[in-house]
Amino acid sequence: MKFETLAIHKGNKITDRNQPVVQPITLSTTFIHGNEEGILYTRAGNPNRSSLEELIAVLERGEDAAAFSSGNAAGTAVYQALEPGAHIIAPDDMYHGLHNSMTMLFKGIHEVSFVDMSNLDAIKAAIQPNTKLIWIETPSNPLLKVTDIRKVSEIAKETGALLVCDNTFATPVLQNPLLLGADIVMHSSTKYFGGHSDILGGALVTKTKDHFWEKIRTVQRVGGAVPSPTDCYWLTRSIRSLAYRMKGHVEHAMILAEYLLDHPKVEKVHYPGLKNHPGHEIAAGQMSGFGGVVSFQVKGGAEAADLLIEKVHLFANATSLGGVESLIERRASVEGPDTLTPPNLIRVSVGLEHTDDLLEDLEQAFSQI
Ligand SMILES: *Cc1c(COP(=O)(O)O)cnc(C)c1O
Repeated sequence: MKFETLAIHKGNKITDRNQPVVQPITLSTTFIHGNEEGILYTRAGNPNRSSLEELIAVLERGEDAAAFSSGNAAGTAVYQALEPGAHIIAPDDMYHGLHNSMTMLFKGIHEVSFVDMSNLDAIKAAIQPNTKLIWIETPSNPLLKVTDIRKVSEIAKETGALLVCDNTFATPVLQNPLLLGADIVMHSSTKYFGGHSDILGGALVTKTKDHFWEKIRTVQRVGGAVPSPTDCYWLTRSIRSLAYRMKGHVEHAMILAEYLLDHPKVEKVHYPGLKNHPGHEIAAGQMSGFGGVVSFQVKGGAEAADLLIEKVHLFANATSLGGVESLIERRASVEGPDTLTPPNLIRVSVGLEHTDDLLEDLEQAFSQI
């Protein structure tokens, strides 16, 4: 079956004898011993969580998925599952929250090299005898840099390292890293999976239920960073419309990127769908659409960028992405002093409002800076 159909029909376990069409929320934290599915206690397993995990696994073309209470908890579970003393190669423009997880929580436990993942020679040069994990994120945040998943997976295989891909920006609608050679996919479900800026969540999906995956499951169960049954319910419900929402986000992002490209007050536009983007060809070879996030640099530096953000009405000046409402932020202002992000860079999560309204709003804001 196709993605749209699977999204609607998978992960919907009906056991109630009244046969509701939609699986209800099972709030009970504990279950009578000897039940059919062997469910004991909600931290270890819950019907809503197993439905969500089944759904995400199927959509991402994996054998199994594990849901977490946030994207950061999902990513951190991977670093927790590694044996101490592992060397990790990660992107130099890695999502800052997971960069912080590695540098703040695993300092003295694992060793990390941050490299430019669009440079295959730089990845090869960073390999050490104890390299156990290569972490990629494509398209990346906030510069929308593209990593060649197939090529990096070859390097990971030669090295004997796991390849984990943060697929948050692409979603399984647009890109399936497991089919391109990745071993595990990570998601912040807070973004497009939830899609309405009202649920925090994360997930890992594995190609095979191997020994490392058992460790991930142990981290999930014992560490306990699991989502509530209610959050699992809302996520399952939101994912039903993911394919159609992504079609809208991709279409709108392209319209916005082209508008910005022609704008005299814009210095540079970063969107992999644009032919002049350095990762365009690779993105076209591994994605079926270029995503819903567009970044651009405004002429006039950070000041002009801040002013533009102040003048828009329809775009909320807030962090995060993937919701139906458009968001805008000057990225360097939230990433802290060590960021590599240019100070005049604005990131837009392009929402599902009509693009005529979005462009009109941007136009009136540009006219005031
Ligand atoms: C938001 C995000 C995360 C972290 O997810 P949370 O749900 O906020 O913990 C990780 N990676 C990317 C690419 C993200 O955008």
